[in-house]
Amino acid sequence: MSSLEIHDLHVSVETKEGPKQILRGVDLTINSGQTHAIMGPNGSGKSTLAYSLAGHPKYTVTSGTVTLDGEDVLAMTVDARARAGLFLAMQYPVEVPGVSVTNFLRTAKTAIDGQAPALRTWVKDVKGAMEALRMDTSFADRSVNEGFSGGEKKRHEILQLELLKPKFAILDETDSGLDVDALRVVSEGVNRVKENTDAGVLLITHYTRILRYIKPDFVHVFVDGRIAEEGGSELADRLEAEGYDRFLTSATA
Ligand code: ADP
Ligand code: MG
Ligand code: MG
Repeated sequence: MSSLEIHDLHVSVETKEGPKQILRGVDLTINSGQTHAIMGPNGSGKSTLAYSLAGHPKYTVTSGTVTLDGEDVLAMTVDARARAGLFLAMQYPVEVPGVSVTNFLRTAKTAIDGQAPALRTWVKDVKGAMEALRMDTSFADRSVNEGFSGGEKKRHEILQLELLKPKFAILDETDSGLDVDALRVVSEGVNRVKENTDAGVLLITHYTRILRYIKPDFVHVFVDGRIAEEGGSELADRLEAEGYDRFLTSATA
């Protein structure tokens, strides 16, 4: 079993006016096989948390710790974090013109495993995962995310997740912009990964909709750069009914 532990994490982002404090003491522990949902209003710092865990250079950790099975994640390069088993599906996936989906996936897999995957099983795995996500085979030859629709970008993120088999998957608003059919396909992909690999999942979302398909074990409400309330999946139901208003008024009081 693996454990991702975040303690008292403070993060600032570089802006034109200077550094701006975004995360103000985040405490969160995720174990293998667990699904944690982070829910919160726009601008509360959810993506900042995701980027900080992935090692985005724009975000500066000013205090606190992040460890994966006791190893200091914050001391690792972005590549080393991926090799250690961290995966981030971004809210806004970037285009990589000139790099095909096939080559991108194979390069990523090779970098993470430290050796190239055996060709025959790899081709079969990619094909199988694409079929399961109902992606057209022509996708494999297209440039990563270039001209992809919102739904296609999200499927491509889950395709990576299925093939790279991380210990911990951080999914930042993987549900945003998806219609109901795409949401179901993407959710089924995440649930397959959970069953087949026992990955720990951090599911970041603004809306409760995806939590009908992916059942969280824990729900954390994120307000103003920290966790304001925690509970089980019933907390998501409550947020669906009540929204974030009561947290926002207390946060600004
Ligand atoms: P969320 O994902 O919850 O909507 P974000 O983490 O994207 O929130 O943003 C939190 C706050 O930090 C917002 O006020 C946002 O404007 C600010 N912020 C985040 N990234 C940057 C950045 N690169 N430059 C300037 N401000 C940023
Ligand atoms: Mg499980
Ligand atoms: Mg965000």
